[in-house]
Amino acid sequence: MQARCVIGGVSVDLHCPGFFRKSNYKITWLCFPLVLETWKKVCTNVTRALGKRTSEVEFVVSDAAKEQFFQDQSFQETALLFGGGSKSLLTLAHLLDKKISPYLASLWGDSWTGSDPEKNRERFDLEENICQDLQLRIVRIHTKLRAIFHKKNFKPSLRKKVYNIDAAFTLPISVSVVLPVTRQFHIGSIISGNEKEYSGCLQEYDYSSEMTRSLSSPGKYVNYYSKLEDLTKVRIIKELHQKHLHIAKYQYSCYSVFHQRWCLKCIKCLTNYLTYKIFDIDPASAGMDEAVMLRNLPDTILEAKRKYCKNKYHFRVWNRIGREAVM
Ligand SMILES: [Zn+2]
Repeated sequence: MQARCVIGGVSVDLHCPGFFRKSNYKITWLCFPLVLETWKKVCTNVTRALGKRTSEVEFVVSDAAKEQFFQDQSFQETALLFGGGSKSLLTLAHLLDKKISPYLASLWGDSWTGSDPEKNRERFDLEENICQDLQLRIVRIHTKLRAIFHKKNFKPSLRKKVYNIDAAFTLPISVSVVLPVTRQFHIGSIISGNEKEYSGCLQEYDYSSEMTRSLSSPGKYVNYYSKLEDLTKVRIIKELHQKHLHIAKYQYSCYSVFHQRWCLKCIKCLTNYLTYKIFDIDPASAGMDEAVMLRNLPDTILEAKRKYCKNKYHFRVWNRIGREAVM
């Protein structure tokens, strides 16, 4: 797995372990035995669940890496894994309530739907506005996510009926691309907003409480933990819009669209729209055009049913929407 981070003119190239083959990886930057053990465990667990065979990864630490040290540095800062959606925003609201002003750690990549500034300027504008209005700092991390998870690299090693996208979100992508910049920005805590439906759910395992707990110490002096784990998606949207309207107005949740904030016909748009209506939230407050959404509604529901009824995560979310609607 390869990732590249570009922050403020600083470029860091990472060559992380391939998960599906027997490999020795020479580590030339500072790593600690316990941290390496943690990552080795992730490789083993992921390949056991998804791969045709379990990985056999060994890390070889170079002398140069052993000699480095950074005890004198402080790691007081917090980074929030930030995608602009309801989880990120509610987690941000909770942190600000506790007087913690985090860095927003935002991943982006070329030709990556929803995260390419050439195609989705809207998301980047919203991020810039929220930073300006709430006096927040942002760390934008560039990744070649699409190239990393290209079919030819992963498909041959995956079990039957395991799709690349499931494999991708079973790996701790977000936290692993933030880790390389923790020293530079004095980040000691990385926080993720995980919703209840992700728990025990293969499709979005990267954001599950199980994954977060297994990586609670992903690096020396760095902790990783999550919030919102006991809240369902619907409750997250409700609390965000009813209690934190000044933050909710920046919501960016649709990743199926170019040069627009909401496509108004995908499963994400549908989930948010129905939740808004259940709790009397004005869709316009999040920039959603209700008239167009309503026009598209029959086709959108049919399409969602056709595509997602067997998806465990969406099934849980929809089940909850139904229950909230009749309460
Ligand atoms: Zn959409």
